[in-house]
Amino acid sequence: MNDCIFCQIAAGIIPAAKIYEDAELIAFNDLNPQAPVHFLVIPKKHINNLMEAEHTDIHILGKLLYTAQTLAVQLGCEQKGARFVINCKDDGGQTVNHLHIHVLAGRALAWPPG
Ligand code: 5GP
Ligand code: ZN
Repeated sequence: MNDCIFCQIAAGIIPAAKIYEDAELIAFNDLNPQAPVHFLVIPKKHINNLMEAEHTDIHILGKLLYTAQTLAVQLGCEQKGARFVINCKDDGGQTVNHLHIHVLAGRALAWPPG
């Protein structure tokens, strides 16, 4: 097993508050939530970031987005909305180098980001 935190969460080695899991992806609450709803959706396959995803990743990329949307609706975010964020590399603010979608909801979020 590599030393990637999210690979270890996907493998069940590091515990996480999982809200969804299937063969290809997992969703879990963020350890340091920035909104009343803040969860992450990640592929079980290690992909460093969105910019390094490949053509063969098209299926999982679509599934990550659709799962993020479905879980947000299930958590009651449909009426007031939510933010779906993918930070990418240093200038994008990525701190964990395993592709993930943040889903934030439950309060009004400022824009633009700082
Ligand atoms: P990034 O800055 O890379 O877009 O976001 C990484 C996110 O992962 C951060 O919001 C951080 O709080 C979260 N995170 C980092 N380590 C862990 C962990 O071990 N467990 C969980 N649940 N979240 C984590
Ligand atoms: Zn990984």
